[in-house]
Amino acid sequence: MTTINFSSLQLPDGEIALDEQTLKKYGSNNFTQEITTEVLPDAVVFAETVADVQATIRFAAANQIAVVPQGAKTSIVNSAAGLSGSLILNLSRMNHILSIEPENQVAVVEPGVLNGDLDGDLDAETRKVGYFFSPDPGSKRISSVGGNIATNAGGMSSVKYGTTKQSVLGLKVVLANGELVTLGGKTFKNNAAYDLADLLVGSEGTLGVIVEAIVRIVPIPSGNSITGLATFPTIHELMRAVQAVQASGVNPSMLEILNRVSIEALDEYEHSHLGSHGEQALLIFQIDVAVAGVLEKLHKLLQEYGATKIDVTEDAGRTAEIIKIRQDIFAAGAQYGRLIVEDIAVPLGQLAKVADKAEELADKYQQRLLLLGHAGDGNLHPDIILEDKDGDLPEGTQKFIDELLEFVIQVNGTVSAEHGIGSLKNAWVPKQLDENVRVLQKQVKKAFDPAGILNPGRKI
Ligand SMILES: Cc1cc2nc3c(=O)[nH]c(=O)nc-3n(C[C@H](O)[C@H](O)[C@H](O)COP(=O)(O)OP(=O)(O)OC[C@H]3O[C@@H](n4cnc5c(N)ncnc54)[C@H](O)[C@@H]3O)c2cc1C
Repeated sequence: MTTINFSSLQLPDGEIALDEQTLKKYGSNNFTQEITTEVLPDAVVFAETVADVQATIRFAAANQIAVVPQGAKTSIVNSAAGLSGSLILNLSRMNHILSIEPENQVAVVEPGVLNGDLDGDLDAETRKVGYFFSPDPGSKRISSVGGNIATNAGGMSSVKYGTTKQSVLGLKVVLANGELVTLGGKTFKNNAAYDLADLLVGSEGTLGVIVEAIVRIVPIPSGNSITGLATFPTIHELMRAVQAVQASGVNPSMLEILNRVSIEALDEYEHSHLGSHGEQALLIFQIDVAVAGVLEKLHKLLQEYGATKIDVTEDAGRTAEIIKIRQDIFAAGAQYGRLIVEDIAVPLGQLAKVADKAEELADKYQQRLLLLGHAGDGNLHPDIILEDKDGDLPEGTQKFIDELLEFVIQVNGTVSAEHGIGSLKNAWVPKQLDENVRVLQKQVKKAFDPAGILNPGRKI
């Protein structure tokens, strides 16, 4: 139990909770199914204003207590759950959209705004004025814009619109000493000094607390959007098709892949019939600006690379159903027990090779491999389904992960594409980075957070 006297933490507007129920609820780790042990924080602060964040950080600095910034707590890499002797700084109540400015093509938001499609969520509100917010992680409905920025979240549309990084123009950040700084602004280009806003993107709460963001919004493209499914005899052929589509100039806004195990899991979860004819691999694609002739070109290309069935729609209802297939895949995999999620990216030319390696290792160690991913970005999620709900990883699963990640590094890929590092992938960072780069990384952390109070032990 804590020895810190939290009564001296005076919040102008927010609230502090010390009761066990709240510590458990906000300290626990809901989505990192690889880690099932729980570490409770000493306190949870619910900030409502920038002044609350500043007061909390100043208190933490004075008392040398670790701070875990927290958005919607959907991290898959144990980045936002409790640390021993920490306080959680929850930002979900700072959830106002401050402005939507079509004339500037930007929105200004507090960090706790959800990136979703319900009223009040950023994407939904921008669509009402003919724009959209392009970052679309599978967790879009339940994750916060601040969390998306702090993890540089990717999603299905990253293949065309980039990751969250490409949408961030400016940030207001509370530093480790409690000072508020403004980084970047509303301009699309900005070369004044080093781009520190960019550095904060993906920093997982280790360099500062994002309290406001200026994000780019994109006009909804005019013209037809087409969405479809294509099946392939093997995942290898599907991967080669993805490479060919990417090189063809059809400019897809979505290229998602699912293997046989994923198809079966979805059919069981959604009572669908995606795999009723023994389909081995499925591609979900979208072209959000379908110019004349593009569909025919894509059709021909997919057939050339072995597609056995191609099903295309322009209907909004059917499009939503197809997208839901992809959004449901984590829940579908987890229905059997738990899902051990990996998140790698490789150069596009290595995709087929890495998918083959994942399948080979899954056979070797008898693992149930749910292979899916944003293949158009070279980003795969080779996930393992485990039936036991908790406990350490079985030896075979650990060996599968170790050998696969070693291989990914060998082919110049990365062990973390979009989910982040958290405390889960920390051990892999030194294996991927050169020693001199690691030193530089530590110097950056020290410059922002000399006492090491911001989300320590995570990211680097
Ligand atoms: C079903 C499901 C599907 C998912 N699909 C995807 C996907 O397709 N792509 C993808 O990239 N991720 C995905 N994720 C992972 C996760 O949703 C993302 O990482 C998301 O961006 C986290 O947002 P959050 O608000 O939940 O942040 P949290 O989980 O609360 O925090 C994540 C990290 O950001 C830091 N942080 C949060 N807010 C701030 C802030 N204001 N200032 C500073 N640091 C902050 C935290 O300290 C932590 O390090 C998925 C998760 C789930 C559960």
